[in-house]
Amino acid sequence: MQVPAPFEYERATTVDHAIGLLERLGSSARLVAGGHSLLPMMKLRLANFEYLIDINPLHEELGYIKTSSDEVRIGALTRHRELLESDALAAAFPIFRDAERVIADPIVRNRGTLGGSLCQADPSEDLSAVCTTLDASCVIRGPGGAERVVSMEDFHVGPYETAVGDDEMLTEIRIPLRPGGGSAYEKVERRAGDWAVVSAGAAVWLAADGTIDDARVGLAAAGPNTTGIPEISAALTGHAPAEELYEQAGAIAARSCDPATDQRGSAEYKRHLANELTRRTLRRAVERARS
Ligand SMILES: Cc1cc2nc3c(=O)[nH]c(=O)nc-3n(C[C@H](O)[C@H](O)[C@H](O)COP(=O)(O)OP(=O)(O)OC[C@H]3O[C@@H](n4cnc5c(N)ncnc54)[C@H](O)[C@@H]3O)c2cc1C
Repeated sequence: MQVPAPFEYERATTVDHAIGLLERLGSSARLVAGGHSLLPMMKLRLANFEYLIDINPLHEELGYIKTSSDEVRIGALTRHRELLESDALAAAFPIFRDAERVIADPIVRNRGTLGGSLCQADPSEDLSAVCTTLDASCVIRGPGGAERVVSMEDFHVGPYETAVGDDEMLTEIRIPLRPGGGSAYEKVERRAGDWAVVSAGAAVWLAADGTIDDARVGLAAAGPNTTGIPEISAALTGHAPAEELYEQAGAIAARSCDPATDQRGSAEYKRHLANELTRRTLRRAVERARS
């Protein structure tokens, strides 16, 4: 199929207008942001919606990266290109620039959004792994301006399924800024711009004495959902960074993930990658935290 089934189209003028339309039209409607995931699915007739509500006119309202002393707030309509090019974001969380350099191609990055990436909830989505690694929270707005904030763990409820209700919208991602932090991302792909065979993100926070105050690892394409691995945080916290610790974390990542054999590689190869990429990203995150 090259063309989607017929649908009605409306441009939202405000966030509340978009939510009002969702409330009225129910599950027959969908928001469209960059359209890079939704439209291919509609063309393939894997998804059929009677109404598309275009939220691109809200870019001025929801396309931003704001840094304060204790957190970074990113609007849901912030595009891949804006995440890639933001020096403030790269200074706070270099993991974003690492990831954006290997997501798709300039055409997709010019249009695709952070909100669309998280809401698509594809287990291979790189930004979901980034946000999981950084312990981000998602701000979800519903009818009457009601807002709730959910952790990344609670946001993804299954493959292609999120905590966002039919009459709700993701508006913002909040990431805590903590001292002594460093982060990194690595992906193995079959060719430039492709989806991951497996990718891993790591973030560490060092205490004043150089020991690990906290560490987090997030994997993509390594199971039915993007995975954070709390066992790694527990194993690393309180220790001085060392090669043996990264090896231990890599082994935990390999046995904690649940990859499937597919055209991108065998489950065994993907476990090997989860191990290797966890070690590499932890090593780089520590180097960055020290500098
Ligand atoms: C050729 C190609 C290669 C790609 N390669 C990669 C890759 O290597 N790594 C990677 O991570 N991604 C990749 N992508 C996906 C890309 O990152 C998309 O931009 C992203 O998945 C979806 O963002 P979008 O803004 O286009 O969302 P859309 O397609 O517009 O929407 C996706 C879903 O999210 C919903 N949605 C969108 N915004 C909101 C919101 N604010 N609130 C509630 N629901 C919302 C929509 O209703 C829809 O269900 C690739 C895409 C293409 C086409």
